[in-house]
Amino acid sequence: MTTKPESAHLLDELEVICRQRGGRMTRQRRAVLGKLLAAKRPLSAYELRDMLRPEDASVTPASTYRCLDFLMEHGLVHRLETTRSFVACEHPDHPHAVQFLICRQCGTVVEAEDKRIVAATESLGHRHGFALDHRTVELTGICAMCKIEGTHVPRPSL
Ligand SMILES: [Zn+2]
Ligand SMILES: [Zn+2]
Repeated sequence: MTTKPESAHLLDELEVICRQRGGRMTRQRRAVLGKLLAAKRPLSAYELRDMLRPEDASVTPASTYRCLDFLMEHGLVHRLETTRSFVACEHPDHPHAVQFLICRQCGTVVEAEDKRIVAATESLGHRHGFALDHRTVELTGICAMCKIEGTHVPRPSL
C-alpha cells in the first residue's frame, strides 16, 4: 500500500475501533478504507476497485461492495446516495446521524453533525409515525471555494 505514515497510523487506530465493535479488519477491508482516507473525497465502488486492482488481483466489484458494507456497518464509512459514492467517516469514534454538504462542482463533501437537525428529523419521523432507520441528510450546492473562484478547484486543505 502506498499510504503515507500518518494514514497508516490512522488506519491502525480505526482497526482498534473496529475490533472494539466486534469486527475483524481484513487486508482488503483495510485497503479499501486506506484508499478512502487518502482520497479525501468520495469514491465510487468502481473507482475503488480500479485503485485496488493493481495491488491485489483478487479484488472484484462484489468483494469491494462487501468491504464497503462491512466498513459502513462498523461506522467507519458513509454512503452518499446523491452521488452513489463512499466517504471515510470524519468522526469514527462515536456512532452518529450525519449531514453532508456536497459541492456539485468540485465534489467536496463536508460531514457535519448538527444535533438540531437530528432532533428535527426524529420529531418529523414521530409526527408521521415513522421509525427512522436512515437518518443521513444530504444537501447539495456550490461550496465556498467554488463560489469565490467560479472555476473548478480541488478540495481546500484545511
Ligand atoms: Zn461519520
Ligand atoms: Zn466546490
